[in-house]
Amino acid sequence: MMEDVVKTLKVRVKNKVLTTRKKERLRRITGRDTRIIEKYVRIIHHNRRKVCRRTKKGEIRVHKGKLDELTLTTSKVKEEERRETVPHDFKKMFPYCSHDEFQECRDIAVQLYEQGYRPSPTRPPIKRARRQLINKKRFILVHLPKEKDNTLTRWWVGVRDSLDTWRRGTPYHQRLWLPLEMSTFHQKELKKGRIKSLELRYKRSTREWWVYFQLKVLSSSFYPPEEENSSSLPPAVLGIDIGINIPAAGVLLTPKKKLTSKEIKLWHTKQWNRVNHRYKLKLSRLQRKAALNDQSGKKHQIYRFLGLLRRRYRNVKRAYTHQFISDIVQTIETYARKYDLFVVVGYPKHIREEKEKGKGKSTRKFRRKLHQWNFYLVLALLRRALILRGFEPHRILIIGEKGTSSYCARCGRKVVRPVRGLVHCSSCGYTFHSDLTGAMNIARKFLGTLFRPRGNTITDYLTGQKYSSTHFTVCRGLSHWLQF
Ligand SMILES: [Zn+2]
Repeated sequence: MMEDVVKTLKVRVKNKVLTTRKKERLRRITGRDTRIIEKYVRIIHHNRRKVCRRTKKGEIRVHKGKLDELTLTTSKVKEEERRETVPHDFKKMFPYCSHDEFQECRDIAVQLYEQGYRPSPTRPPIKRARRQLINKKRFILVHLPKEKDNTLTRWWVGVRDSLDTWRRGTPYHQRLWLPLEMSTFHQKELKKGRIKSLELRYKRSTREWWVYFQLKVLSSSFYPPEEENSSSLPPAVLGIDIGINIPAAGVLLTPKKKLTSKEIKLWHTKQWNRVNHRYKLKLSRLQRKAALNDQSGKKHQIYRFLGLLRRRYRNVKRAYTHQFISDIVQTIETYARKYDLFVVVGYPKHIREEKEKGKGKSTRKFRRKLHQWNFYLVLALLRRALILRGFEPHRILIIGEKGTSSYCARCGRKVVRPVRGLVHCSSCGYTFHSDLTGAMNIARKFLGTLFRPRGNTITDYLTGQKYSSTHFTVCRGLSHWLQF
């Protein structure tokens, strides 16, 4: 029941010692591959009736064989199956590229198309970064031992040159050797997984070449001892409620039926709220300015600045999200040392429909905030981060949070919300933080499903994975949390 996680490791090529020939070669390889990929995407899109089909879930799947029938001639098969002419002959368009390379580019194009990338007549081809994904077979990573101190660089990656070199009338592929700036951190990371593929990237801003390794990390292989100890630790369930104003609130249910400040956790990001507000203000001001359509000729400048600001906002947002995730993970790790821990996070699936226009008291501003809130990303990142740290997948569960925020944490009756952020129970007179109530009820809901007489599986909302309740047998020791 172990799950693989793919991780990217970015290593800089020693750009200063790259020869001009190698740079030129790299530029040509990646540049041409980008063009081939783009071409493939266009062909898929134009022939989408022929080559695409929809799965039951509504996802698009591209038939690779049918795509090949449109693009590649064949010569090595039986005569009656041979294709002499095809509508889009790639071999004619890119004569120096081999069959295997076409198929590699085809696979990337298919992947891109299935992920939703579409060619557009106005948008230039994929040009953000020159890139090429290379399968395991076509590169080799070499580490020269210390004794052979004939070179300053110990780590090299040999990439098969996708441009044909002709020798005595037959094409062959050379290897392009790239020196890498490999630090001890990189070496440690490399040991944690197996390399699946690599990508060559050119960063325009710094004019540097980078190698991105895709590592397949096996979560079980490097964390075996913890599992043995875990049975001796007392069980605990951490319920987490993620929200808009307070990003996350957590309550830990332990064998003791008591909550102290140690078991309650709020992940605030006051600074982020300020930064976010400032950026949004700036952006809206600029957008208004751009829309005013003044004829002073500065419009171009405004749009450029707007683009810059949007990018910066995106990056800042991303950095804060990652910081926030790592904060949560840190807390979870401290808990995991003391308890046999299960983390349950609420998935706000129905909240968007519930707060639709005209329903309840939701304001326009609130709805906008709701739709900009990327809870899926937060959940996916959190799950990934925990699995990378050796958590077994069934220990991080995402369940539906429907109905968890409207019941009293003490007596289980329906509550009212007198002020934003607080819940008040009229029957027992208890007032509590609304997000913490949610977190507590999420953990309770999870415990409740374990004691259900029928239906003994628990489904993860994010992945759709079903877990049998035998995984959670230890949690039955926490049944006292279900009584009021
Ligand atoms: Zn109550």
